[in-house]
Amino acid sequence: EEVLRLEALRKVYKPGTPLEQEVLHGIDMHLCRGELCALVGPSGSGKSTLLNLIGLLDAPTAGELYLLGRPTRGLQDAARTRLRNEAIGFVFQFHHLIPAFSVLDNVLMPLMIRQGRPAAEHVERARGLLAEVGLEGFAARKASELSGGQQQRVAIARALVTHPALLLADEPTGNLDSRTADAVFELFRRFNARFGCAVLVVTHDPRLAAGCQRQIELVDGRLITYKA
Ligand code: ADP
Ligand code: ADP
Repeated sequence: EEVLRLEALRKVYKPGTPLEQEVLHGIDMHLCRGELCALVGPSGSGKSTLLNLIGLLDAPTAGELYLLGRPTRGLQDAARTRLRNEAIGFVFQFHHLIPAFSVLDNVLMPLMIRQGRPAAEHVERARGLLAEVGLEGFAARKASELSGGQQQRVAIARALVTHPALLLADEPTGNLDSRTADAVFELFRRFNARFGCAVLVVTHDPRLAAGCQRQIELVDGRLITYKA
């Protein structure tokens, strides 16, 4: 079952100006349910740009992007936001937790944004995910009181609380020491296997990339695909 399909996707920054720059030159790829895929490539090759397009945070210049079979190019902002909130979970290098909020409220945030006060079953779901990432006893603590690795675990629980079909992670372990990075990455593997969500993770760590079933590489805005 296809979660994501990109067809001839192009991105030009500052079109029509002297600073015009084509960063993605026609990307074709697809991602199915249950796939764990690493996106690698040198700095400046367009990885973040591609992730922003896939996350519906930015619009392509040309080409089409299908999410859950739906074409997204023509979507109005409200529909785009709805589809993003419904289908995609994000984990960033810097977790963007709200430091003064409790760990539990941080995890509930995507659901609260979607529908205001969380229902009891959503609180249960958030607590369940906190247990899964090994932070059962931390629900009432302020996010700012946790270590970097613990905060990244909270960010993963938050990304999964909406049951997204696609989990996008941009250098999620870039800020962590290698042991903590391994443990955090192991969570992606576990949730990928357990929930069958497609996971696309940008990483500079060849060891972590090698642990993914699929690896794709961006070089100068073009995709090179390796068969696992
Ligand atoms: P990577 O994530 O692989 O390091 P990026 O997608 O961040 O690559 O950047 C690719 C190229 O696009 C770089 O030359 C960068 O300067 C340029 N770029 C990225 N974001 C923007 C932007 N918002 N406006 C203009 N140029 C950008
Ligand atoms: P709910 O949370 O909706 O009360 P469950 O947690 O039992 O119900 O999950 C319902 C279904 O959603 C299960 O099939 C499970 O595989 C899937 N699921 C549960 N948690 C997640 C998650 N975080 N991300 C994606 N799918 C999930």
